[in-house]
Amino acid sequence: MSETNNQKEDMSLLQAWQKKIELANTNNIFCHCHQCQYEWVDSSFEAICPSCKSSRIERISCWQFPDD
Ligand SMILES: [Zn+2]
Repeated sequence: MSETNNQKEDMSLLQAWQKKIELANTNNIFCHCHQCQYEWVDSSFEAICPSCKSSRIERISCWQFPDD
């Protein structure tokens, strides 16, 4: 039994997940405009509101939503 080995495995698992999350982030960002309350899904954290062109955007990565 070696805790060090287990930790190493956990780390590579974590890194694999981070890649998946990164990928999910680039494709599924839920955006909510604080200006006009418009909601949409975008692939960029730089996007502005397509409705009112505001940059007051709240961004939530879709993988953060509860999975039920
Ligand atoms: Zn807006």
